[in-house]
Amino acid sequence: MSDSNTKESLEKISNGSPKPTSPNADLKLDFASFWEYSPAPESSEHVKIDDRYNHFINGEFVEPVKGRYMKSVNPATEEIICEFAEGTSEDVDKAVKAARKAYEKTWSKLTGKERGKYIFRIARMIQERARELAIIESIDGGKPIRESRDVDVPLAAAHFFYYAGWADKLNYAFPGRKPKSLGVCGQIIPWNFPLLMLAWKIAPALATGNTVVLKPAESTPVTALKFAEICRDAGLPAGVVNIVTGAGATGSEIVNHPDVNKIAFTGSTKVGKIIQKSIAGTGKKLTLELGGKGPNIVFEDAPIDQAVEGIVNAIFFNQGHVCCAGSRLLVQEGVAEKLVQKLKDRMETLIVGDPLDKNTDIGAINSKAQFERIQSYLEIGVNEGAEMYQCSSKIPENGYFCKPTLFTNVSQSNRIVQEEIFGPVLTIQTFRTPEEAIEKANNTPYGLASGVWTDKGSKIFKTGQSIRSGVMWSNTYNKFDPTSPFGGYKESGIGREGGLHGLYPYLTF
Ligand code: NAP
Ligand code: MG
Repeated sequence: MSDSNTKESLEKISNGSPKPTSPNADLKLDFASFWEYSPAPESSEHVKIDDRYNHFINGEFVEPVKGRYMKSVNPATEEIICEFAEGTSEDVDKAVKAARKAYEKTWSKLTGKERGKYIFRIARMIQERARELAIIESIDGGKPIRESRDVDVPLAAAHFFYYAGWADKLNYAFPGRKPKSLGVCGQIIPWNFPLLMLAWKIAPALATGNTVVLKPAESTPVTALKFAEICRDAGLPAGVVNIVTGAGATGSEIVNHPDVNKIAFTGSTKVGKIIQKSIAGTGKKLTLELGGKGPNIVFEDAPIDQAVEGIVNAIFFNQGHVCCAGSRLLVQEGVAEKLVQKLKDRMETLIVGDPLDKNTDIGAINSKAQFERIQSYLEIGVNEGAEMYQCSSKIPENGYFCKPTLFTNVSQSNRIVQEEIFGPVLTIQTFRTPEEAIEKANNTPYGLASGVWTDKGSKIFKTGQSIRSGVMWSNTYNKFDPTSPFGGYKESGIGREGGLHGLYPYLTF
């Protein structure tokens, strides 16, 4: 790429309003204004977020020992939503002691049937408060209300329903073996699916008879604290679920507490490696759900329009804040030009903006730090010589918003191809043969999820067997179900969550 092109692309990044490069762009703009939707904001009037939240320890909300608080921000408006407690070693110790006492005195003594009743009750209460939880998830984390309403919250409830069903059937799940609970589980979750990640962790832990101390991410603590209210209102015995809020240091206190039997972590590969090192030799059990750089492979015989929808779903929805996002498109040469043009046309119609508006496709980037990280990757991509394309639609002036972005003319060794960006940024490479597609798909340190689009079942099976990823979707993308295990190969993690497999990490035999 020439210097002037590079400069132009960098200017596009800084002023955020690139000129459309699609040949049909002018036509598209006319259509866009013709078909513009009226705003359809979800009302948040009935949702109550307190000014300040404390830890939830031993069945009640308690002030942090050191009296320190942090702030959670709405990334769409940059306004402070509330304060929440900053957990220190003293708070974590109190929570672990409460969890230990609850484990020994109550929870491990209950029958599976009794435990199951509590978990069913929690599931139903999540459903009853679904609208409130969805709105809070969008306010605190920036994701579009359609996504929190239709995906995050229903799936969170579904995980509690599913694992409630296993609570009294563990002997049938593992015939001939004698499954036993572990004790106190420390659980640390990220900001991209706050309530759903909590459900992935807490539901199987409780079903198998363990008690938990969970730390939500510092940019999205509110739904975990609302979940604490649900535990209290469901009459869950005190200390079975404890929520300690704070930053990475609080997570580290949980990991290193000597009376924790198991750590379940979802987050970045960098922090996963730190955790793995720090618990080595302690006898603590560990599951890690880490980063990804998912290949999404489109063969020439694929239904192209469906594939375009699948690509948009795989990388642009939820702002690309999806560990299993299809962030690398691999398209067979013969259809590459046609597909990229259709993709650009589709990008022109995506609505980036207010997360609470029901028309919004792409909401706010979760935090200032993540926004800056994505911007720096856009610069890296341009400096590496890739060609950047962003759609021409407007983005709000305030808040952290990023236009959906494509990079073409990339090579396998580029940082934007190898490293997880965790934003609405797609790299596009081409291939000629299935072998080349497989080679390129496997050529990153990650192995979490992948997609394949083709008319032929045989190609699906061949690529499915050859690609090292925990999940592969064919002719669809980002579909989840509590019965289905999820997890990574290589630097994407250790262990599986979901389904029958998700019970194993919480049991000993
Ligand atoms: P992150 O920085 O690793 O943080 C994850 C959680 O760990 C947060 O609660 C964080 O607290 C905490 N933490 C930070 N440093 C810690 C330490 N030294 N010890 C213990 N806990 C610590 O990841 P993120 O940026 O929040 O999330 C994005 C990453 O998660 C991406 O890489 C994504 O791929 C991955 N992810 C993976 C899956 C999966 O299932 N494989 C699912 C979702 C997300 P703070 O929030 O205060 O920093
Ligand atoms: Mg927030």
